[in-house]
Amino acid sequence: MSSRNAQLFRRALELMPGGVSSPVRAFRGVGGEPFVVQRGEGPYLYDVDGKRYIDYVGSWGPLIFGHADPELCEALTAAVLRGSSYGCPSEPELELCELLVSAVPGLEMVRLVNSGTEATMSALRLARAATGREMVLKFDGAYHGHADAFLVKAGSGLATLGEVSSAGVPSAAGRATLSLAFNDLEAVRQAFEAFPKAIAAVMVEPVVGNMGCVPPLPGFLEGLRELCTAHGALLIFDEVMTGFRVALGGCQQRYGVRADLITLGKIIGGGLPVGAYGGRRALMEQVAPSGPVYQAGTLSGNPLACTAGAVSLRRLIGRCDEVYGELERKSAKLEAGLLATAKRADVPIVVNRVGSMLSFFFGSAPVRNWDDAARDEHGAYARFFHAMLAEGVYLAPSRFECAFVSTAHQDAQLEQTIAAAELAFVAARG
Ligand code: PLP
Repeated sequence: MSSRNAQLFRRALELMPGGVSSPVRAFRGVGGEPFVVQRGEGPYLYDVDGKRYIDYVGSWGPLIFGHADPELCEALTAAVLRGSSYGCPSEPELELCELLVSAVPGLEMVRLVNSGTEATMSALRLARAATGREMVLKFDGAYHGHADAFLVKAGSGLATLGEVSSAGVPSAAGRATLSLAFNDLEAVRQAFEAFPKAIAAVMVEPVVGNMGCVPPLPGFLEGLRELCTAHGALLIFDEVMTGFRVALGGCQQRYGVRADLITLGKIIGGGLPVGAYGGRRALMEQVAPSGPVYQAGTLSGNPLACTAGAVSLRRLIGRCDEVYGELERKSAKLEAGLLATAKRADVPIVVNRVGSMLSFFFGSAPVRNWDDAARDEHGAYARFFHAMLAEGVYLAPSRFECAFVSTAHQDAQLEQTIAAAELAFVAARG
């Protein structure tokens, strides 16, 4: 008899493209079919057949306190009784904005939106308006959401500019977007020289989370800052994933480099749909209705989402040292455990970790950019993933995504994960 997971996913396949609401959930990166979730609690997800998984995906980053956190549930339960959406200014949105401005360096003013995609596309529009230029420079393998401008990969050289990476994106998007190798400052310098006074912004995930975890090399972010300033372009840190994850003040705090605009999402919504972009007052006042850059949203500033975000941020701000210290300790333990088990299995891996964002790559050469991350590993991650899943550990169903450690992961679950990896690294050898 087929499982309830399989029955429901068959129905999902009839109703939704690939059976999912967002592509990577469909397990195409590892093969097989996704399980269907019944509920989440603390570090665990439970599927509809009652199987329990230690979850390191955490809804792709937002769940820094784990699933169904009691404090969050209580606040949301009270909030929903006051109504689910007003379409008017409200106190929860004000509170979330105040918390954001207090914690994120250089954020003087902020606009709330509903997703990271909205945040990045709106920040780019603002950068184009503020500079009177149209081009954007980004990095191969980074992900800034699904707006046309960002679905572009490197062409065969600067002369050909970018190539669109999705059907349906106009070729004009490829002519306005340059995509270069992450961590290659020289390429950025050359691009600024090749396109004088044309580049509105450099958009960067300061720690890339979307080719697996790839940190910046020393001097890279500082170099981007200098080049943007020298050439009159805006530096946009896309901190949708890293904001409140790698430090309270995100990568700006961790690496001591200031951006002109910052985009946020994930953690700032506590698991509900929220994004935000912000920066200096003079820039942000160009956004409607203060200024001429149009951007709006029916559900923007939603009271439930803002309540969830505010509860999370208040806790992160109030217990900053304790929370980030705990996340660092737990994540370091997981890293050490994975390295030791891989070594025992005689499987070379490279672990990249920044705080509680972590990924590993099969092979022994360092991973500094997309070409490194995408090197052929002959299906090792897919085998590893399925062996872990069988043992009740849910990692991202793609080798190009991070694992996220939450405060809900206790030593017992970390140890169980490392024990499962013992078998999984052997399975990964194929
Ligand atoms: N920017 C970064 C760095 C992301 O990781 C993501 C999503 O994973 C986005 C933007 C897009 O955010 P959303 O999926 O909320 O639209």
